[in-house]
Amino acid sequence: MGVHDLLRTELTGLTPYHPDATEVPVRLDANEAPPLLSAAARARLASAAAESPWHRYPDATQTELRRAIAAWADVSPDEVVPGAGSDEVITFLLTAFSRPRSRGAPTVVTSTPTFGMYRMGARLRGFRVLEVPLTRDWRHDVPGLLRAIEVGEPHLVFLASPNNPTGTRLDRDEVARLAAAAPETVIVLDEAYVDYADASCLSLYREHPNVVVMRTLSKIGLASLRLGWLVAAWGLAAEVDKVRQPFNLSSQTQRVATVALTELAGELASTVAFVRQERARVHAALAEFPGVEVTPSEANFLWFRAPKPSSEVFERLRAQGVLVRSFHPAAGRLAHQLRVTMGTAEENDAFLERLAGILA
Ligand SMILES: *Cc1c(COP(=O)(O)O)cnc(C)c1O
Repeated sequence: MGVHDLLRTELTGLTPYHPDATEVPVRLDANEAPPLLSAAARARLASAAAESPWHRYPDATQTELRRAIAAWADVSPDEVVPGAGSDEVITFLLTAFSRPRSRGAPTVVTSTPTFGMYRMGARLRGFRVLEVPLTRDWRHDVPGLLRAIEVGEPHLVFLASPNNPTGTRLDRDEVARLAAAAPETVIVLDEAYVDYADASCLSLYREHPNVVVMRTLSKIGLASLRLGWLVAAWGLAAEVDKVRQPFNLSSQTQRVATVALTELAGELASTVAFVRQERARVHAALAEFPGVEVTPSEANFLWFRAPKPSSEVFERLRAQGVLVRSFHPAAGRLAHQLRVTMGTAEENDAFLERLAGILA
């Protein structure tokens, strides 16, 4: 008997998330935006970081930041709960909505493949996790989700829309159907990539009190900041906010994010416009390769099927200095699938060139 016997049993089955640390010239594996901020914008962010007094605790109410987020997202400041990335917001939700039920462990429903933090965070806290496979064309399976909700009676349903790694998005009426069918379940709409999408379902939280929405700055050029947030109806947001540690965001993060969302909104929009343009270009180029199937994407990456095993394509790309994401350890229907983040035009060209060589 030692302290190891005191660890949560769920830890045994979990492995820590370690992004690929390989030093490569072209890194298109983490859905970060290309570094397009102007020198003036970067200088402005640096000066914003220097404005806060180093010896003071940050503003625990995050008043200025919530106002900036609210204006940016077109919601009210008291409907916003900021977190250290949407990753932290996921933990807020799993902590807040975990009241025990008589029928065993609380349940989370999500799709597969999708963003891994939902399953990881839920399992760690003792939730049961039901995963509904995406459809053949890699979309969320709404009838399948409805059945899982009926059987599993989940506390929460996590839906990335657009989905990572597939780039596919739920329509507004699909989210509305799920929300209406499950009034006693929190429908978490993760819109991490919505800036790259043709439409957002954010406003559904106004019609459906069980819908909450997550957003982040990570995918539009500010991944280092660690800022994400929840949008929820006022009463619900206030409850979730009780879970948040008062000083979860540094003064520097709060200041820099406020400046980014207000003064630099135009620069962030240019990054998004550039990436969307590259996505169309790279999609068209990829689709020309014999045997390659590209899924239409509303995110800053492309999901495609290679005519060779993804493990082989992945390793050969990496050997030639281009890192993408492969899901080959998961075999099955993912055995030929790869995800490539849109980088600079030069990086995207390097990817296309190397891939052409590998598939030739
Ligand atoms: C990258 C990603 C996130 C994580 O965002 P952070 O704000 O950086 O924590 C959340 N959801 C999805 C679907 C993602 O792909």
